[in-house]
Amino acid sequence: MKKLPPARPNFTLINAQLSDGGFTSIRIAGPRIDALGADPHRGDVIVDLQGDRVLPGLINAHDHLQLNSLSRPDFDKSYCHAREWISDVDAYRRSDPEFKAGVAVARDERLLIGGVKNLLSGVTTVAHHDPFYPFLSNACFPTSVVHDYGWAHSLYVDGEQEVGRSYRATPSDWPWIIHAAEGLDEEAGQEFERLDALGCLGSNTLLVHGIALDHAQRVRLDLAAAGLIWCPSSNLHLFGRTADVAQLVGLGRVALGTDSRLSGAGDLLDELRLANELGVIDEFSLESLVTTDGARLLRLYDRGTLRVGARADILLLPARTRLAEARRTDVRLVLIDGIARYGDRDYALPVAPDVQWTDIRVDGKAKILDSRIADLVAHARTREIGLELPHLTGRAA
Ligand SMILES: [Zn+2]
Repeated sequence: MKKLPPARPNFTLINAQLSDGGFTSIRIAGPRIDALGADPHRGDVIVDLQGDRVLPGLINAHDHLQLNSLSRPDFDKSYCHAREWISDVDAYRRSDPEFKAGVAVARDERLLIGGVKNLLSGVTTVAHHDPFYPFLSNACFPTSVVHDYGWAHSLYVDGEQEVGRSYRATPSDWPWIIHAAEGLDEEAGQEFERLDALGCLGSNTLLVHGIALDHAQRVRLDLAAAGLIWCPSSNLHLFGRTADVAQLVGLGRVALGTDSRLSGAGDLLDELRLANELGVIDEFSLESLVTTDGARLLRLYDRGTLRVGARADILLLPARTRLAEARRTDVRLVLIDGIARYGDRDYALPVAPDVQWTDIRVDGKAKILDSRIADLVAHARTREIGLELPHLTGRAA
């Protein structure tokens, strides 16, 4: 007779430290947070966190998931407008054999690596800025991906007619996302005005980058109840400058995104560390960008906070680890919809005995990963740098 897998238990995490320094317990029942600060129920699996930190799973508000297995080209120059960089990337794709081969890898395999990058950094939801490819809703995809969204690439790629059509076709209760003001020149500065003239600045509008926005435009963005997705590492790499976000962050109008590794530094923890080093936002606000504010701006009302009834998307970090200084080796556990996907053996095994686990190493540190994801990665023709799987040990960085 076939052996049935063990049932998934309800479980309570006790002695968990919140971001405000207080301690609590969190009971997870199925895909939801069932109770906070309450005693475990009879029969629950109890995991004593001994003061380790508990946070909502992180939200990466901007990525192009299929572009993360490609290494960042270094053109050794600074740009005035994103269109110049895109033109250089197009030429590079035609001329560099290694880059060409990377682009030729099957799209689902490249999407997978984008998902793995995010999962390993504690991200539980990603806003992908391209079509919602079918694989993104596959049960084996490493993270949740925002499904209900409208998007255009930019005014300079799509043109005003398509941008206007895209905005009007997007339900008003879905986010509508567009790269805008990505540069330093007159054209970048005018994109906000052009979007406004097209009627595309509504409360569901999210501008990605916004480097060229001036003070008056930022005030108007706030008055429109729109939002800005800030990607500082990509901005600094391409333009040597990033958006002036301090005031908008205080108004709750900013989320944080990595962009892909084609222009960005890496994962969301890298982005948080850089944002912290820039010194314009306090640590509490930084955390909001990737939790509460990111969720609200993306209209994800079921996540981004630790509250009863919310999705059990959870990140555990070691005691006293500052999110703004965390690295992916620090990630103790990632739960998505109440199911452990990745983390340290001592936390993942008790709460997910029904999951098949694969021993891996991430940046040299032992971790375990849901075997369905590990198997897909093992068979992909591309890989996640720093991730060692058992049978790929010789090849991994
Ligand atoms: Zn982008």
